[in-house]
Amino acid sequence: MSPARFEGHLAALLALGMKPMDMDSVLAAVADGAPGRHPGVHITFDDGYRDFLEHAWPLCVRHGFPATVFPVAAYVGRRNEWDLSFPRTSHLTWPQLRELSDAGVTVGAHTDTHPFLSRVPLDIARREIVDAKSRLEDGIGRAVSVFAYPHGDSSPDVRRLVEDAGYAAAFSLDSRRMLGPSSRWQAPRTAVYALDGPRGVAAKVGCRGSRALWRARAMNRAFRLCGYAGLLVPRRLRGISHAEGSRGEGP
Ligand SMILES: [Zn+2]
Repeated sequence: MSPARFEGHLAALLALGMKPMDMDSVLAAVADGAPGRHPGVHITFDDGYRDFLEHAWPLCVRHGFPATVFPVAAYVGRRNEWDLSFPRTSHLTWPQLRELSDAGVTVGAHTDTHPFLSRVPLDIARREIVDAKSRLEDGIGRAVSVFAYPHGDSSPDVRRLVEDAGYAAAFSLDSRRMLGPSSRWQAPRTAVYALDGPRGVAAKVGCRGSRALWRARAMNRAFRLCGYAGLLVPRRLRGISHAEGSRGEGP
């Protein structure tokens, strides 16, 4: 999405009275198993594209939103050859990730190569989950304690691997409510897409009626279908700032 649209989302969240919250507060809410008792918004960016540094993070700073970035660890400093559904673009480099981490951005893991974890053999999944953590920790010189499933995809075995690897929580792309502390290995996240306007975002955070939410979900479904079918989405919609999910295939 364009930086202007993203800034509109931030302004809409603030106008609705949503409180920005940092990752420590998110983890406390997730450990509690009832995030509803901890109202607020934390924004995450999957895949770690360079435009996060150039466009999205400065807007987060301007509006007071902490953020988390989930880089594809083996592609730090490289082009996104792993993603055939998205135009070629550059990932953040190690110095840029360190700069962001020093500035307060939480860096989480998102595997080494972005597979559907439930569809690869378990030993491959384990390697993707464990290696990404150590690679990122070596690269930024800080502990990495949160994980986001590529494409939001997991299974009970995969979630156990994430727990065994020593993460504190793992995020899905499912906006269902948590069912207690054990849900922290499948913590809910709401995907926001390039087609979402401020009303759609408001609906997704529960601040507008079901009609706006239905419209936002229908648009997201159509957008994902276009991606799966390999249809071209106009460049101006595919946009500059790659918040998670802005490409058709899903994060
Ligand atoms: Zn992703």
